[in-house]
Amino acid sequence: MTISTKNPASETDSGAEAARLTPRTVLVGVPASPGFALGKVFPIINREVSVVEETIPESRVAAEEQLFLKAVSKTANEIAKIKEISESRTGLQDSLIFSTHLMILKDPGLVNGILDQIKKEHKNACWAVHVVLGGYIERFEKIDSPAMRDKATDLRDLYNRLISAMENSGPVVEELAVGEGVVLVAHEFVPSFLMSLKPGQVSALAMDTGGRTSHVAILARSLQIPAVSGLRNIAALVKPDDTILVDGSGGMVIVNPNDDDVRKFHERQEVFERQRRELFTMRRLEPMTRDGKYITLHANIELPSEAEKVTDFGATGIGLYRSEFLFFRKDVPSQEEQEYAYRQILETMDSCPVTIRTLDAGGDKLVSGISVVNEANPFMGWRSIRVCLDREDVFCTQLRAMLLANTKGNLRILLPMISGLNELRRAKAFINKCRDQLVSEGHEIGKVKVGIMIEVPAAVMLVDLLAKEVDFFSIGTNDLIQFTLAVDRTNELITEMFQPHHPAVLSMIYQTVMAAHRQGIPVAVCGEMSSDPLSVLLLVGLGVDELSMTPWSVMATKKIIRSINFEDVRETALTVLQMDDAESVNAFLTKKYAQTISDLGISSLLGNVGEKQN
Ligand code: PEP
Ligand code: MG
Repeated sequence: MTISTKNPASETDSGAEAARLTPRTVLVGVPASPGFALGKVFPIINREVSVVEETIPESRVAAEEQLFLKAVSKTANEIAKIKEISESRTGLQDSLIFSTHLMILKDPGLVNGILDQIKKEHKNACWAVHVVLGGYIERFEKIDSPAMRDKATDLRDLYNRLISAMENSGPVVEELAVGEGVVLVAHEFVPSFLMSLKPGQVSALAMDTGGRTSHVAILARSLQIPAVSGLRNIAALVKPDDTILVDGSGGMVIVNPNDDDVRKFHERQEVFERQRRELFTMRRLEPMTRDGKYITLHANIELPSEAEKVTDFGATGIGLYRSEFLFFRKDVPSQEEQEYAYRQILETMDSCPVTIRTLDAGGDKLVSGISVVNEANPFMGWRSIRVCLDREDVFCTQLRAMLLANTKGNLRILLPMISGLNELRRAKAFINKCRDQLVSEGHEIGKVKVGIMIEVPAAVMLVDLLAKEVDFFSIGTNDLIQFTLAVDRTNELITEMFQPHHPAVLSMIYQTVMAAHRQGIPVAVCGEMSSDPLSVLLLVGLGVDELSMTPWSVMATKKIIRSINFEDVRETALTVLQMDDAESVNAFLTKKYAQTISDLGISSLLGNVGEKQN
């Protein structure tokens, strides 16, 4: 049997501290979330865990039993804490999958089965867990049912936690004090895990996988946690006592930095803080180009509580609330729970528009109780609007909750991943049905606008027809790029191919804008392009009316808009539409605008501007 998760800190007895640490190593990845952090590595083990089989003498049986029982109680405490944090963050009861975990941990069949392996078979505790819990996982995985596969996922998480607890791999993240300043390092993170972190509990994230538009990266930016993704092998490289420097603006980490690295780090961090402070002077200014073209700036949010701060950052509405983040829990939130959350946002924003996207589950956002795990192509699988149309119970519960919460008439319902008229019409029929039902139940329903995400190339091909049947478009460039170029947005091996300025992508955006304007409806962009400076110039030039982004990117984007002339960027956009490839477009834009952008003094807030170090 193999060993793969030994904690190096507990492995050595040489006493030579330096020898236990990773030598200074510079790794370059993707700038997933801007900002800087210097802290101790805290490894999160989420690679497959494997353990050693040992036959133990009778004299060790009691110790191994104790080891297992302690791991059970440590794991139960961990889970109870995550559950509590998660509930306080989302404002919902029974968050995430953790109630089930606690129940499984108390299952006498499971616990006794493991103790029997230790007592009767004389196996070490880790192996006993491996045999018994691993056996359950295997059995559930073989059953061809989404619910059973979900259960296997729950058990696998529990398995990893128990083995980690027994291997003494240090404190669990939930026990870390706020402000401890550790940097979490993992092969990959999932959005629900990030949601369970307390504000200020960790100072940065570094991960092997992912790109800039994965939902973990989006969430890290929203939570203002500096992060570097796509580092490929950092999880295997670092050790728990290592110091690590994370430059989320430049997309680089340095493990065990030297004095010079630390000095440069502090200089950059200072610039970052200063640039961020200076930006606040922008928030009350109009997002207007120098020649008077007004561009609406809205915020993307993932949590209802974020609504409170979006106007402080200068946004005049919410352009995208990713409602699926409310569903990261064991069961589907009830109509009342959803109404409460939506009301919190709609009422906080008063008369400003609030765009709530209907459940966009699937892809890299697996929702327990709904999503199917282990799909061969999750981004193209049973997800998003497809799930909603198949699960009338889930969809109508959400629609009723939204409509009831819309007391101020500022709701815009956004339907994700629409690929044709049939889907749109079916979704609108559900909206009408829910509204009629509520009216017949005596409710007064406020005005509602209905729009669609343009994020599938098929929708662009049909854009004139779609424009006739909706109130607005919102272009989801993260998925539109992914599907147009056939480049998985979360795959770090092909991040270079994820090209927002590819002529095919720009042409899709332009066609969408033209069709919308012919029909007299507005077009927003709510993908990550809307906060990249050079993309902002192009999107404005292509005629986009509204940009929606992470709340704290609004001020920097406003600064960019106020520095440009609409007529000039329009000409630029029309010029680059004729170009052959993204490289030519980028070279042209850089030559023409790099200096203007650099003069704005926002470089460290934007990502991809870090100086490479060796
Ligand atoms: C998009 O696809 O651009 C988008 C905004 O939605 P998400 O990132 O949640 O897929
Ligand atoms: Mg999308």
